[in-house]
Amino acid sequence: MSDTQFPYKIELHVHLDGAIRTETIIQTAKRRNIKFQWETTEELKSHLVMREPPYTLQALLDRFNTFMPVVAGDREALYKIAYDFCEDCKAHNAFYVEARYSPHLFANKMKDGTKPPFAQSEGDITPQEVVKIICNAFDKGSKDFGIKVKSILCCVEHRPEWSMEVLELCKEFQSRGVVAIDIACGDLEPGIEHEEMHTRAFQLASQYGIHRTVHAGESGPAAGIKLALDEMHAERIGHGYKVVDDPDLYERCRRENVHFEVCPLSSVKTGSVPQNLEEHPLHRFIDDEVNFSINTDDPIVLDNDLTRDYEMVMEMGLDKEHVIATIFHAARSCFASPEEKEQILKDLVEAYGEKFMKM
Ligand SMILES: [Zn+2]
Repeated sequence: MSDTQFPYKIELHVHLDGAIRTETIIQTAKRRNIKFQWETTEELKSHLVMREPPYTLQALLDRFNTFMPVVAGDREALYKIAYDFCEDCKAHNAFYVEARYSPHLFANKMKDGTKPPFAQSEGDITPQEVVKIICNAFDKGSKDFGIKVKSILCCVEHRPEWSMEVLELCKEFQSRGVVAIDIACGDLEPGIEHEEMHTRAFQLASQYGIHRTVHAGESGPAAGIKLALDEMHAERIGHGYKVVDDPDLYERCRRENVHFEVCPLSSVKTGSVPQNLEEHPLHRFIDDEVNFSINTDDPIVLDNDLTRDYEMVMEMGLDKEHVIATIFHAARSCFASPEEKEQILKDLVEAYGEKFMKM
């Protein structure tokens, strides 16, 4: 499939730290004289890419421990990662993208004086500075490549003490292209540790007019989706495949037109869906006209890109019109301003035709 088939794509669920070019990691390790086990991009790729079982979310997340210490707290690397990301979006015709990351995981100085999670040593890159660097790079990259890249800032499930600061950063950088708050977690479900610290941040986000998306119902149960909708005022659900396990909740999501950020290859490689693709919840989503988009999640460990994920869903039986309909779903459910949204929809109509506006 050539890219001419889909000249305008939108991506709503991709982790910036999961979309770093492997060569940037190798180069940064060399520049910073960091002892790094892998000397070439091929070696690093063969270690990072999930090519064989276990296909679990934990196996995917563990891989971040390999490379995050190389880039965290390094100003030059952070800028380059975010700028190059824009170029990679353009290469796959992704003209509007919301990329997410945890400012804390890229930092080398914590506000409360605790040890930065990944940095080699302490420095002056606070979570606030991280957001500033990445906003600058996204601005420049968006201009240079003629696209729009926005940020979503992530809370981290096992670090509830960061959530209020994430909320504050969302507020502070709203005018710089930060559009929403997210929580990245393995198994969001009622009763997670310090649940109230996360939910409070999301409730305030809703009051402040900051958009909300929540990772839920991926490897965790459908109850996590309910928690996200009821307590965290989520407007979109990251993954959410397990929604099909709860018929009432599924009906409600359809009724309320909740948007699911589906990541096809990721869903298989994390074991979040049956390995037999015929049983993939995506088929239900299509039959029932659920509001969903197609996304990459973490290209560095999945070795995918948007073109590849589009191919995958077409191999699963989606036809071209279905795929285009998902791009329109993404446009309607994205967190751009109303004016920007209007322009995106205009561009989409120009690319694909008027009839999709009614789908
Ligand atoms: Zn994700």
